[in-house]
Amino acid sequence: MFTVNTYAATSPTGDLVPTPIQRRDVGPHDVLIEIKYAGICHSDIHTVRGDWGPQSYPLAPGHEIAGIVTKVGSAVTTHTVGDRVGVGCMVNSCGQCTNCQAGEEQYCLAGNTGTYGAVDRDGTITQGGYSTHIVVTEDFVVRIPDALDLDVAAPLLCAGITTYSPLHHWGAGPGKKVAIVGLGGLGHMAVKIAHAMGAEVTVLSQSLKKMEDGLNLGADHYFATNNPATFEHLAGSFDLIINTVSAAIDINAYLQLLTLDGALVNVGAPAEPLPVQVFSLIMGRRSFAGSMIGGIRETQEMLDFCAEHGIGSEIEVIPASKINDAYERVLASDVRYRFVIDTATL
Ligand code: NAP
Ligand code: ZN
Repeated sequence: MFTVNTYAATSPTGDLVPTPIQRRDVGPHDVLIEIKYAGICHSDIHTVRGDWGPQSYPLAPGHEIAGIVTKVGSAVTTHTVGDRVGVGCMVNSCGQCTNCQAGEEQYCLAGNTGTYGAVDRDGTITQGGYSTHIVVTEDFVVRIPDALDLDVAAPLLCAGITTYSPLHHWGAGPGKKVAIVGLGGLGHMAVKIAHAMGAEVTVLSQSLKKMEDGLNLGADHYFATNNPATFEHLAGSFDLIINTVSAAIDINAYLQLLTLDGALVNVGAPAEPLPVQVFSLIMGRRSFAGSMIGGIRETQEMLDFCAEHGIGSEIEVIPASKINDAYERVLASDVRYRFVIDTATL
């Protein structure tokens, strides 16, 4: 075991504070990564504040990790010292079940091992990327292409893959009208990726205050959801809607915006239920679905796609001392469009 510096929550209500934690020694299949940048995802806030259930503290969040390999275990074949690598929302899975075998480790039937706040195979609780170093089994480490700087690549490990996967799965591309609800960390990546896939992209944001940004990110249209006329004007318009909102919204109002056979995919994960009127689905043979991050193979595919299309995240790099301020700004929808921690400040 060795000790590393982190910023961690010590309770659901207090600030994150500098906290030393233990990492396991590098085993035969492990990679030691010197973390350079870690993105702040809204899921970090949901988790440390107990929105999704009780946690064990101290808890260092962070599952948008970009860094450099500094040591590899004796049996590691896929990474070498000096490689630019990333780690996302999971650090292990059973590897045996149907879903793992299909490369969809996020849906591991035994439960994937989350990057933080999960019980690891050795019984310890995993600790995330608001940290100087992390030890991860090689199969859950992906390669960051040279064309992507590490700071703008970090958010791709969650916000990028979480939006790429459903856009790809539900066929976003030329001739498809795609709406993105919420222009935050996930939403802005969804706009960039859907645009690069060739879809006609519409942003549905609470107000028009980020409209110029949205259009610059690649959206073709931008509407405010605080204006009831938006829902009349856009009724029956979209083949696919990706809802990235972190709070409960009136999902039935958004289902009305789908075409015949359209699908609304929820990636936003509020603690509260989103009640669906079945008539919102029946009238138009519509689907309401969910999607969770993406598998390791697809995460690599997404990174290569982003490198090819020159897509990084729009970021504000902060020192660790600003993490608690950043949380408040994310909660106030005041993020443009991802906070990324410079881990040298830990
Ligand atoms: P974020 O940066 O805070 O973005 C969320 C956006 O939702 C805000 O910028 C805001 O956009 C909109 N919004 C917030 N509160 C709202 C409200 N009360 N009513 C309407 N719109 C509201 O968060 P994020 O990091 O993108 O994460 C978004 C959600 O996805 C979180 O719940 C997170 O836990 C979840 N998530 C899920 C997965 C998965 O695998 N499914 C992965 C990562 C994250 P506007 O200002 O444009 O309206
Ligand atoms: Zn995340």
